[in-house]
Amino acid sequence: MEMEVTALVGKAYYEITLDDIAEWWILGGVCGCCGHKGPLNRDWIERKAQNRLLRFASRYIHCKRCGNGHLNRFYIAGKLPR
Ligand SMILES: [Zn+2]
Repeated sequence: MEMEVTALVGKAYYEITLDDIAEWWILGGVCGCCGHKGPLNRDWIERKAQNRLLRFASRYIHCKRCGNGHLNRFYIAGKLPR
């Protein structure tokens, strides 16, 4: 079940923080350059991101296909089984 973060949280992308997204959602990244999508290691991002706004945390994600690190966005890649 993929969806936009904005659809899940109901806020504009620029004001969404990691805290708005419950831990059972799997975060993914969309490349701003080539459009590649993939799931992310959320623990790693939580540790790296000093600013919890998604638009700042996204600077720590890089595209696995083209290596791009700019203008990448988060999306919801799915839900953890429980
Ligand atoms: Zn890419």
